[in-house]
Amino acid sequence: MIERLPLIQAPTPIHRLDHLSAEFGLDLWIKRDDLTGLALGGNKGRKLEYLMPQAIGVKADVVVTCGALQSNFIRQLGAACAILRIRCAAAVMRLPYEPVAGKQPSINSASGNGNVLLDEIFGVELHEFPNDTWEVLYDHAEQLAVTLEQQDLRVYRIPVGGSSGLGAFAFYEAAAEIARQTGPFDFIVTPTSSGSTQAGLANALFGSKTKLIGISADPEPDLVEDVLRVSDELHTLLCAECSPTLVRLLVRTDFDIRIDWAGPAYGVPSDAGNAAIRKLARTEGILLDPIYTGKAFAGLLDLAARDELSGRVLFWHTGGSPALFAV
Ligand SMILES: *Cc1c(COP(=O)(O)O)cnc(C)c1O
Repeated sequence: MIERLPLIQAPTPIHRLDHLSAEFGLDLWIKRDDLTGLALGGNKGRKLEYLMPQAIGVKADVVVTCGALQSNFIRQLGAACAILRIRCAAAVMRLPYEPVAGKQPSINSASGNGNVLLDEIFGVELHEFPNDTWEVLYDHAEQLAVTLEQQDLRVYRIPVGGSSGLGAFAFYEAAAEIARQTGPFDFIVTPTSSGSTQAGLANALFGSKTKLIGISADPEPDLVEDVLRVSDELHTLLCAECSPTLVRLLVRTDFDIRIDWAGPAYGVPSDAGNAAIRKLARTEGILLDPIYTGKAFAGLLDLAARDELSGRVLFWHTGGSPALFAV
């Protein structure tokens, strides 16, 4: 049995987008994981329901993670830690990047307010480092964890974005929520970044008629490696519960990841994403975010315009709107 700690309001609502359905000749629906409830909502609340029991299990004094300064995960983790009276420490960079020919993105991202303000309210200990690669950020997080252990504290480490087998298991379970709420879709479009949302949904939907498209928030062709690693971890978890032969191990070609709408860099808003935010707000009254869901919804609108989507289509709204208030 995989332990779950209830932290969110689930099932999250699912409803039709009537105006956009009419405009694009689709049957377009939205899954409102922006309304999970924990600390203004978002997809990370689902992962925390399965990650926090592990922190409790090891009697953690402090949880250590890392991410971008405007991380939605750190905000929701801060709330979960507050509920459990566990310290929350995070190594952050304003704009961590992939080493593309050794260059860092030249455009700066928002640094204050938004999630940073909420982290302070929840009492998160943010340790900010100068912009560098993700690998360097992971090293800073490990160093932070070791320093806390040297102070005789029990540390529970959580990878970036809460993306581990347990994080993916949350979305493996979330797919069943949809099956109960509305029945199957022809297409599900979700933002993707650290991998567990897509890995969980892909494993749950495998063998069904639903096509899952992940639209990357990261202009990184190797993102599939991260999604695969998390999917492998989920497979190991699922196989602990039943015979490995019953659960197929997904391979690279089982994941449909599109990087065309990632914009200039991870964490940097794009023109298409900003336009998509306004489109959904002005047709359906729903807020997206500039880093993940705006870019993914821009992708959905382009795919719909190119007739690459048909029938019943679901957009998975993973949250993130606090970043609209980042400066
Ligand atoms: C983290 C996040 C995602 C990406 O989910 P992953 O499981 O990390 O791929 C998408 N949207 C929002 C708003 C997020 O905070």
